Parts: sequence; C-alpha cells; structure tokens
Amino acid sequence: MSTYVSASTVEEALEAMSGGARPVAGGTDLVVGARQGKAPLPDSIVAIHAIDGLRGISGSGGGLRLGALATHEELVTHPVVRERFTALADAAAIVGSHATRAHGTIGGNLMNASPAMETGGPLVCFDATVTLQGSGGSRELPVAELFAGPGQTTADVGELLTAVDIPEPAAGTGSCYVRLEYRRQMEIAVVGATAVVVLDGGKISDARIAITALAPTIHRVSEAESALVGTDGTREPAEAAASAAAAAAAPISDVRASEDYRRAMAAVITRRAIEAAVARASGEVVPIPASPALHGAV
Ligand SMILES: Cc1cc2nc3c(=O)[nH]c(=O)nc-3n(C[C@H](O)[C@H](O)[C@H](O)COP(=O)(O)OP(=O)(O)OC[C@H]3O[C@@H](n4cnc5c(N)ncnc54)[C@H](O)[C@@H]3O)c2cc1C
Repeated sequence: MSTYVSASTVEEALEAMSGGARPVAGGTDLVVGARQGKAPLPDSIVAIHAIDGLRGISGSGGGLRLGALATHEELVTHPVVRERFTALADAAAIVGSHATRAHGTIGGNLMNASPAMETGGPLVCFDATVTLQGSGGSRELPVAELFAGPGQTTADVGELLTAVDIPEPAAGTGSCYVRLEYRRQMEIAVVGATAVVVLDGGKISDARIAITALAPTIHRVSEAESALVGTDGTREPAEAAASAAAAAAAPISDVRASEDYRRAMAAVITRRAIEAAVARASGEVVPIPASPALHGAV
C-alpha cells in the first residue's frame, strides 16, 4: 500500500526517509515523471514542501545560501543572483515553463541529477557545496562530487539535501550559462555550457568552463579553462577554449540530436557562453536569460 506523509521539520522528514520514504519537493520531476510513465511513484513518499527551515535565499559572507526549497522563480528574480551569480539566473530562467519554475526547486533539480539539468553547470563553476543531512549527522559536498551518473547522486538513500552554499565570487567576475534549445519553453538542454571568468586588467586571471548534456555528468573542462587564462577572452582564445570543451565531450545520440551534432554544437555554445561571460565581466549588458539573446549570434 502506498503511503504519503507531509513533514513540517527536517527531523520528521529524516524519520520517514529512514523508513524508506522518498522525499518530494515541487514534484515536477517525481510526480510528473510518474504521470508520464517514466518511473512509477515510490511506495512511500514524504512531502518536504512545508518545511520552513528549507526555504529562502540568504547572504552568507559575500556568498549565498540557497535553501533546498528555493524555486527557480525565486532564483531568477533574486537581485544578488542576477548581479553576482548571473549564470545561475540564466539557468533558472529557462527551466521548463512558468509553472515548472514556480514549483521546481534547486534541491530537486540537483538530486534528479540529469546530465541535461540547467543549474548544475553554474553551481559547479561557482564552487558551490551542498549540505546533506542524514539521521546520523550532516556533511558538505562540492556539487561537482554530487553527480555520479545520469539520475544518480553520491548521496545516501536516507540523506536530505538541505542547502546549497555558494562562496563569494572574486571581483571582476562575469558569468553566463547558454543552452542549445529548439524552442523557448518546455525544453531541456540539447547541449549546454557555463563560463565563469575573472577579468583583471583586461586579462582573464581565472576561468571555469563546464559542459552540460555532453557527458554522463556535468563537469568542468580544465583544457578549456587553461586556453583562456592569460588571454583577453576575445574570439581566438574563446574559440580555442570552445574547441577544447568540444573535444572533452562524450555525447550520446538520441531523438533530440546525434552525437556528431552535439559535439559540433558544443563548440558553438561554449564560445557563446565565454564571449557573454567576458562581456558581462567588462560591464556590458547581456540580457537574462542569455540563451535566446545569443541564439542570433554568429
Ligand atoms: C514540463 C517540465 C519541464 C522541465 N524543464 C526542465 C528544464 O528546462 N531544465 C531542468 O533542469 N529541469 C527541467 N525539468 C525538471 C524539473 O522541473 C526540475 O529538475 C526541478 O528543479 C525539480 O525540482 P522539484 O522540487 O520539482 O523535484 P521533485 O520532483 O520533488 O524531486 C526530484 C528528485 O529529487 C529528490 N529530491 C527533491 N528534493 C530533495 C531534497 N531536498 N533532498 C533529497 N532529495 C530530494 C526527489 O526524491 C526526486 O528523486 C522540467 C520538468 C517538467 C515537468
């Protein structure tokens, strides 16, 4: 028999999870997926949407703490996210539809661990960490170490993701997340790229590049980052970095794109993300979300 309980504290949620219940936050992956026949609903569910302690976005020493229940809508409308963590605003702004963004949470997005999910690339590049709370205590883990494969995380079954912490970015940081999309709403990334650069005296002193929907997990590409550091981030170095990102991709062929098309688009999308991140670091305005604005770019 299926059971459903609603927790009002983290402790109540953990108790239900220790008995085998699966947490549900916005339900836009778990419930919608079940209705679409992707996977049956778990036998036992604990709703966590009423746990006040998991809500909100707050400052922490120049960085940000996102409660696990922070929605995509809250992220994209938050002034600090838009100004200092712009790639994350780019990502949250294009998740699903208005309804998906209003209900879908950052915790659910991360724990769903899709290689095509939007917020992973920006969070990996911003060095974000997650707090995982189990009945025996809590631990922090870099977001980059949370993803284990498509739909798989390194969290234990009984662990609840309670918060995401993002450290303060260096002065001179500009960032951008771009995805190849065939339509503006109700889409997932065919290919995605995140670029975070730090400009110092007109040169890039630090660069972070991550690829999305191009491998079993979202990950940074160090060869692409090295190709940018010390340059001014204009067309030639951006193209060299983008080629390195494409070379590091291990894409699949599916109904949405072939492996070859994804690899070719990896270079284009990564270059656009880099150029927009450099433009933002230079003080130029690139609209949020960047994807529709940049798709007219050459
Ligand atoms: C029409 C549609 C369009 C979509 N478009 C996009 C898109 O463009 N880009 C994109 O990235 N995603 C997209 N999604 C996927 C989904 O909306 C997001 O991943 C969303 O952020 C999931 O959050 P949620 O709170 O609804 O997760 P839920 O469905 O509640 O949970 C998802 C998974 O995470 C687990 N979970 C949830 N919260 C926690 C927690 N705090 N701790 C531990 N485990 C937890 C659940 O057990 C479940 O396994 C789309 C979904 C739909 C239905």
